[in-house]
Amino acid sequence: MLTIQGKGVSSGIAVGPVFFFRRAEKAASRHMVKDTDAEWQRFLAAQAQAIEELGELAEKARAEAGDDAALLFETHQMMAEDLDYVDAIEEAVRGGLNAEAAVEDTGNQFSAMFSSMEDDYMRARAADVLDISRRIAGILQGVSENALARIETPVILVAEDLTPSETIQLDKRKLLGFVTAAGSASGHTAILARTMGIPAVIGIGDALKSEHEGREVIIDGATGEVVLEADVLIREAMLKKRAEQIAFKELLEGMKGEENVTLDGRHIKVYCNIGGPDDISAVKVNDGGGVGLFRSEFLYLACEDYPTEDELFEAYRSAVSAMEGRTVIIRTLDIGADKQADYFRLDKEENPAMGLRAVRICLTRPEVFRTQLRALYRASAYGKLGIMFPMITSVWELRECRRACQMVQKELEQEGVVFDPAVELGVMIETPAAVMISDRLAKEADFFSIGTNDLTQYMLACDRQCSHLGRFYDPHHPAVLRAIRQVTENAHRYGKWAGICGELGADTELTALFLAIGVDELSVSPNMVLPLRYAIRGIDVGKERERLLAELDSDAQ
Ligand code: PEP
Ligand code: MG
Repeated sequence: MLTIQGKGVSSGIAVGPVFFFRRAEKAASRHMVKDTDAEWQRFLAAQAQAIEELGELAEKARAEAGDDAALLFETHQMMAEDLDYVDAIEEAVRGGLNAEAAVEDTGNQFSAMFSSMEDDYMRARAADVLDISRRIAGILQGVSENALARIETPVILVAEDLTPSETIQLDKRKLLGFVTAAGSASGHTAILARTMGIPAVIGIGDALKSEHEGREVIIDGATGEVVLEADVLIREAMLKKRAEQIAFKELLEGMKGEENVTLDGRHIKVYCNIGGPDDISAVKVNDGGGVGLFRSEFLYLACEDYPTEDELFEAYRSAVSAMEGRTVIIRTLDIGADKQADYFRLDKEENPAMGLRAVRICLTRPEVFRTQLRALYRASAYGKLGIMFPMITSVWELRECRRACQMVQKELEQEGVVFDPAVELGVMIETPAAVMISDRLAKEADFFSIGTNDLTQYMLACDRQCSHLGRFYDPHHPAVLRAIRQVTENAHRYGKWAGICGELGADTELTALFLAIGVDELSVSPNMVLPLRYAIRGIDVGKERERLLAELDSDAQ
């Protein structure tokens, strides 16, 4: 038996024979060409073919893994036409290099550039640019063999790394799980594995060797454990866990359409966190009751310049319409700190988490705010839209936000544009200041949504981006839990509702406490809706309330 520890990126246990994936690669031939025009035309033809193939992959991905997965290949199509990328290839070809070598060199250069970036997301794009370059170079060289077609029986695929397009081409009936030597958890290959529901472990290094081909391996995509030729007892234990997971998944599926209600009849709303309209399909598939947090800044981060009012309106309208009358709460721009868009030209700050970010930017750049609010109010005519403001610390900020909304409403009225005048305006409780004045804020806000990711960071003075703070960043800290109670009670005192939209909302260890406190809504990632429903339906709040609240008050905390 050989046990290897990797990083689990897509949960589930899979068992099957090892199959080594070897790419049918030919090193790009490298020579100088005389007719550079003809060579450039050869590149353009290969680029067009690649874009067409990527379109076909997008359709396959849409059918098998949904809109998000399709978007990945549509993004690849755009990357294949990216001006900087294409210009670099043209320069090499015009300099006399053959097209396949020019594509290979440019792909390597861009990939190295992405790999050296600090941002995890950008680093993960290194694999994407290599994927595209490999496709174009392959077309130029006439390499069309699909190494994956060799798989005949279901296997655990082992590879150095897998590109997103290789992952989507895998025949799911023959793929039990996969393991890669390299890879990143936020890379698209890992994301695709999760959307396709394939157990996957990455980063095992070179522990599995070609002599292991055909031998049985068990992988646990949650713990990252990879066990080759497991002992009888370990094998039995892992298979038992697998059977339990499958049964639990089926149980959760059976909960679709059920209510989020406790054993003693207390209802709680379970909504979803999304990054854009494309995520609505996941909300629906997982039976989310609404959208509790639409992180609107992602639309800005995806652009190279300020999105127009019409572009924003289209995105909001599409999400609101798709939810067919169910609530969609859109948070206004939360740019700054770890979310930077160059065109905002924000000054470099010593402490960006405490700098000009979120609502502070909106209130200092009224035109940017106005454009977003106009788009939001226009979209409000298409369903039930709510707006909330991030990083509020003072009552005057909320008043200014409200005034900005009123001005926009007046403008739209004068223009004869239809909107919903009853859009609820909420405050995100993310700072200790907002907690301490939550009684005052509750008088003027329509609801509260507690952003526990930032609230933990600011309550405990722990940078949420810092990877070595470990147990110091503790969202279970009594300061955070007591803050949630104080905020919820203040909301209720003034007849308002309070929800949680930070990651903590999905923590089923705390669901009973949140119910005991009286939290009205939990907004979580779509895949957590059903596990949360399962937890809620097993709780008797009446029975547990006193004990849980006493525990929160006690010295033991
Ligand atoms: C939060 O801070 O808890 C939150 C939901 O917002 P974000 O994670 O986008 O900062
Ligand atoms: Mg936040």
